[in-house]
Parts: sequence; C-alpha cells; structure tokens
Amino acid sequence: MPTLLAKNALVVATLDDERREIPDGAIFARDGVIEQVGPSVSLPQTADEVLDLTGHVVIPGLVNTHHHFYQTLTRAVPDAQNKELFDWLVTLYPIWARITPEGIRVSAKLAAAELALSGCTTASDHLYLFPNGSRLDDEIEAVQEVGLRFHASRGSMSLGASHGGLPPDSLVEDEDAILADCQRVIETYHDNARYAMLRITVAPCSPFSVTQDLMREAAALARAYPGVRLHTHLAETRPDVQYSLDQFGLLPGEYAEDVGWIGDDCWHAHCVHLSPDAIALFGRTGTGVAHCPGSNARLASGISPVVEMLRAGVPVGLGVDGSASNDSSHLLNEARLAMLFQRVKGDPAALTARQALELATLGGARVLGRDDIGALKPGMAADFVAFDVRGIDYAGALHDPVAALLFCASTNAAFNVTHGRVIVREGRLASLEIEPLIERHNALARALLSGD
Ligand code: ZN
Repeated sequence: MPTLLAKNALVVATLDDERREIPDGAIFARDGVIEQVGPSVSLPQTADEVLDLTGHVVIPGLVNTHHHFYQTLTRAVPDAQNKELFDWLVTLYPIWARITPEGIRVSAKLAAAELALSGCTTASDHLYLFPNGSRLDDEIEAVQEVGLRFHASRGSMSLGASHGGLPPDSLVEDEDAILADCQRVIETYHDNARYAMLRITVAPCSPFSVTQDLMREAAALARAYPGVRLHTHLAETRPDVQYSLDQFGLLPGEYAEDVGWIGDDCWHAHCVHLSPDAIALFGRTGTGVAHCPGSNARLASGISPVVEMLRAGVPVGLGVDGSASNDSSHLLNEARLAMLFQRVKGDPAALTARQALELATLGGARVLGRDDIGALKPGMAADFVAFDVRGIDYAGALHDPVAALLFCASTNAAFNVTHGRVIVREGRLASLEIEPLIERHNALARALLSGD
C-alpha cells in the first residue's frame, strides 16, 4: 500500500470540523486515503513519495458540480458572444450537431486537464447530446486518463422544436433509447463504494428540452440504483421561468416538485430565479444547487441568491458550467467570482473568502452526495491541491495566504493529488503532454466552426 507525505506547506487549510488552518502543515496518506494531518514536525518524516510544499498553500481538492466538457470546442464563438441563453443555444446547436466521438474525447480530456490544473480533483460533467455516434463512454475514458474523480452525467434531450422544445429535432433522442442507455451506463460504470473514482448521474437536460414523462421516468430509474443521483438545469433565466409558466403553469420549483425532482439525491444547475418558496423547499429537503456565477454573468442571466439559499440550508456547490458560456474551466476563479458577485447587491461581507472556499470544497461534496471528499482529515480521500504563493500574483497578501487564493488573481495549482496520486506536478500534468492535445483540440474546433 503506497504512502504519500506532503510536508512543509506554508499552511494547510483543512476545512475539517474545526476549520483548522495548520501553519507548516503536512498530510500523510496511505493507499489514497488520509491517515494524518498536522504540523510537519509531528508527522512521519518519510513515505514512498514525498512532496516538499515549502511556500505553498494546501487546500482540499476543489469539486466542480456543473460543466459541459464538449463546449471547450466552441469558446468565444463570434455569433454567440453577446446573446442570452435561448438565442445562444439556438446559435450553437447546429455547430454542436457536428461533434464527433473524437470531439467528445478530446474536449473532455482538455476540460479535465484544465480543471485539474486549476485545483479541481472531483469533476461532474453533464453531457446531454450524442451526435454522430458519440457515447458517454467517450468522455469517461478521456477523464480517466487525466486522473480526476469523476461523476459522469448521462444527459439527454427528447423534445425537439417541432414539439415545442428549443433544440432542433436532429439533436434529440427517443425516450426509450435514452432510458435504456442510462441503465446501460449505470450497470457498466457506477461505483457506489466509498472513495469511488467514477459514479453515474441521470440528467435530462432542461424543462425546455425534455418531456415531463422523461423527467419522471428518469427519476424512477436513478432511484432504483443506490447512489445514482439526478441532475438538470433549473430557473436559469427569466425566459426559462416564463417557458415553465407557459408550458406547465408552474414556477420552476413547482415543476421540479411535480416531476419528483426534489430531495437530497437531486441537484439543479443555476437556480438564478428560484422563488423564496422554492428556496425554502430546497432547504427543507436537501435539494442541491450548482452555482455557476461566471456563466450567469456571461449570459446576463442574473446573480443567484446564494446567500438566501445558504441561510435556508440549501446545499450549494460551484460549477464552471459549459465552456461556451464561461469561457473557462478554472474552478478557483469560479470561487472568486462567487465571492465577488454576492457582494454586488451592497453587502461587502455577503460571502467571505473562506465561505467561497467552503462552497468549492465541502459544498460541492455535499451536492454530489459525498462524505469522503471536501475536507482534509483522517479517513477522507487524499484529494488535495497546493498553490505556490511565492509569485507576483500573491505578493503583499501573505499575512492571510488562504484568503489570498480567493482575493488575488486566480493562478493554477502547482500540485494536484487525487486519491493519493500526483496528477499535476510543478504545474504540469503527469499523465499526458498538453501541447499535442491543445493542437488536436484546436484543429477539431476549427473544423466544427467551418463545417468541414
Ligand atoms: Zn449547463
């Protein structure tokens, strides 16, 4: 059983029950699980692998709760730069319809690499379109190569434009085929054990792209398997709320309740325009929210009432959202945006740096239904990241290096340890060469946009 010692950190922010921050801290792990956390002098002095983290801040690995990896192929598309959600989607759907299985694999690898470099150790992805023979298996394979802990969502769209939905008919699937494939990927991949590296989520895309029948049947299917969670988009924009009122006569929270998507096994992306009643309902039932501030600003969707949600006891995690609306997969930066945007309404203490860090770690873990990640203490997975704070970005802020990670410009992690394995070392991915990956990714992006 291999051991790992990370020592001499400037500070280890544990996010444990006492929220201890340990100066000159160290972590000792065995076989991917933390055995000890404390001052460097009090821990074992050697291990199979030793990382000297002098000058680094160590935090729990960040947890991403909402993303669409394939969208890295369509960042900053000129026609979609200045549009709100529905127009933005309608602009991009025909481009996405040309994505190939190789496009899914390469974009997933790139997004996973970008997340790993930005301090993420657990990622969730929501893949809801499967053009040209693409499968969820394509992205699972790619993420495993990078080494992230992964929650793969088998998304879906079934309601095409000819039936009142938003996506073109060419991008939607038959509902029986969707449910059969959800069952296939659950039975092939889902691991409900503690420290699992791969879990499956069932995730019809949104109220305006699937039927209520599919929502109900998807929930029943997921709930037949222990640990399989439910994920979708909800209340993202005002037109999204209006669609729900027009089509179903229900506000988004009422719609979620009506189709059985309330409970501590569900999490909803965005929830920018959730009513006070729905916030209370989510809080009472432990229904989770993936807060995506960068995407919400980019598409002018609004600012999610995160402070009100936290007050009501709603589990809230962070998501970078798809890379066509961010246009980045930098999770530390997303935590920074979360902190800044909650202050815009006039309260400079609305969300502190440490609260933002908590959303990005413990909050995300809770939203994904995990009690084995999100904090650094014995018995938790050895998922942690280290940021070198000796550079120009953090100069003048080292009286509080933990807060500096959130307040100062967001840098990449120097080290990323996921399940005791070093997947980023001195700022470089351990498992793959990034340059050829970027080159292939850019060639695929060019071909997609030109329609070749
Ligand atoms: Zn999304």
